[in-house]
Amino acid sequence: MTRPDELNDQLPVVPFCPFRCPRCAASKPFTYGQKGRIRYHRCQECGTRFRSLELRRDQLQTFDPPPRAPHSAPLKHGNA
Ligand SMILES: [Zn+2]
Repeated sequence: MTRPDELNDQLPVVPFCPFRCPRCAASKPFTYGQKGRIRYHRCQECGTRFRSLELRRDQLQTFDPPPRAPHSAPLKHGNA
């Protein structure tokens, strides 16, 4: 007899990169939109809005975030 969780352990695994709020590093933001490979999120902890970019597997090693638009709100750098 095989328990269901043992069957689950046989399922294929695909990579997943958890992403975090660029300001407070909280995970699991609210997702409020999508445009192509871009998804729009709002942090549920601090309210910061940010975007995520869906990558192909071969892009994971070379990902370089595109520059932010000039009108976006300035982020505080560091933990001061
Ligand atoms: Zn946040």
